[in-house]
Amino acid sequence: MNLIRFVQGNAQPEVDLKKTYDAIVVGSGAAGGMAAHVLTSHGMKVLMLEAGKKLDINAELKSTEWPYEHPRRGEMPPGHHALTLNEYTVRKPPYAAGSSYKSVYSYVQGWSGSDYSKNIVVDEKHHPYSGTNYAWVRARLLGGKTNIWGRLALRLSDYDFKAKSRDGYGEDWPISYADIAPYYDKVDLYLGISGVKENLPQLPDSLFHRPNRLAPAEAMRVALPDAEACIVILSGKVTIEAGGHTWRDIGERGSVFDDRAPYAVYLPPGEAAQIVAKTAAEIGVGSAPASAGPPARLIEPASMKRFKRGEGSNTRYVCDILPQTEPASHLLLVEVVTPAGHSSSYPPHKHDTDNLPAESSLEETYYHRLKPAQGFAFQRVYTDDRSIDEALAVEDHDVVLVPRGYHPVVVPHGYDSYYLNVMAGPKREWHFKNDPAHEWMLKR
Ligand SMILES: Cc1cc2nc3c(=O)[nH]c(=O)nc-3n(C[C@H](O)[C@H](O)[C@H](O)COP(=O)(O)OP(=O)(O)OC[C@H]3O[C@@H](n4cnc5c(N)ncnc54)[C@H](O)[C@@H]3O)c2cc1C
Repeated sequence: MNLIRFVQGNAQPEVDLKKTYDAIVVGSGAAGGMAAHVLTSHGMKVLMLEAGKKLDINAELKSTEWPYEHPRRGEMPPGHHALTLNEYTVRKPPYAAGSSYKSVYSYVQGWSGSDYSKNIVVDEKHHPYSGTNYAWVRARLLGGKTNIWGRLALRLSDYDFKAKSRDGYGEDWPISYADIAPYYDKVDLYLGISGVKENLPQLPDSLFHRPNRLAPAEAMRVALPDAEACIVILSGKVTIEAGGHTWRDIGERGSVFDDRAPYAVYLPPGEAAQIVAKTAAEIGVGSAPASAGPPARLIEPASMKRFKRGEGSNTRYVCDILPQTEPASHLLLVEVVTPAGHSSSYPPHKHDTDNLPAESSLEETYYHRLKPAQGFAFQRVYTDDRSIDEALAVEDHDVVLVPRGYHPVVVPHGYDSYYLNVMAGPKREWHFKNDPAHEWMLKR
């Protein structure tokens, strides 16, 4: 995809305007951005026209900075004004006409921390809105309002699609929730959606179970009433408040591939944690149903055991984040870096049968990252009876579920693999059984 950008009135020289494009997308916000993504991922050549500038979001977005860190406690400088909702009702557009303020912004600027997003929304003095009487929030920058949205993606349900059949009002749509749910899933996984499962029939749950990528100053909350959780700072720096503690500016990795262990925070069921990103950060949250657990605590990198496992092209590097020797009710977390051309979780092993001490019953998830990011790896998940037998091409940020069976990973030449494993089961012990067909290679 090519982007045409006008920065301070100058077109960037990167676009070939003599070329014929398959499609032109105007605006790079949620709508334009998604349209361009879908079209380009099907091989179309797309020209995107964006009226806004590209902002350095790391420098601009600090809305959850502490008020005392800002010279005006987050307020805009004198001469700048955020319209109140009342102004939309008592005035006619253009709303800034006749205003003595130098800059006038939409009401959204009146929310706390307005200084942080004043460069994101339109200055109504410079770009007067002359449409209908409407409290319009207009953004002018690359990415549009996705730079400040809350990452909640509320789904329609059959209460909406089949309203006429339910209550006699409106018309039934020719599609139902079941038709559209797979597309909601795709968008959720692509964007990264905040929220918790609530099982409401009128508001179907999004796909929340994935690591969260936070922009600087973005916040997320983890609060699971019936599950214990382990928050892993995969990369970036964050402040976490939980259980009466404040762990400020924790996280020392720029990437999961940095040669150091992560910070993590354990949360018992019902304990809430507030996470605020200081820098761009990626947060993994592993959870498992539990009725009780030890108190919330910080798990420091220095307390985690890091070691090499395997030989030759089966060598991989393991970090025990929350092993069975450390307190928790059901959860186990470990991360593994597998160098290019190597295999891991290999020879294939499984832990799906409660047969201690030979084997324990633990479900597992793999959250995959690849370096460079365009790479791929392969993971096979299979059982002895082949009732599960899937060979998966995994890409950066993919999650693989291992309900049972063997689950080896193989990484091709040129790409390093990282994965975060979250395991949980009734008995918190990791005892696995190798696939007898391949166990021979351990005995060489
Ligand atoms: C603070 C805030 C929080 C929000 N939180 C949520 C949330 O949690 N969940 C949710 O579902 N929604 C949320 N929303 C709403 C949601 O963000 C917007 O509805 C959505 O992002 C709009 O996307 P869009 O592509 O239609 O418009 P925009 O994001 O506004 O994108 C329009 C783009 O077009 C560009 N443009 C405009 N005119 C031109 C032109 N003439 N030529 C070229 N380019 C042009 C703009 O610069 C901009 O980049 C929130 C909105 C705000 C302001």
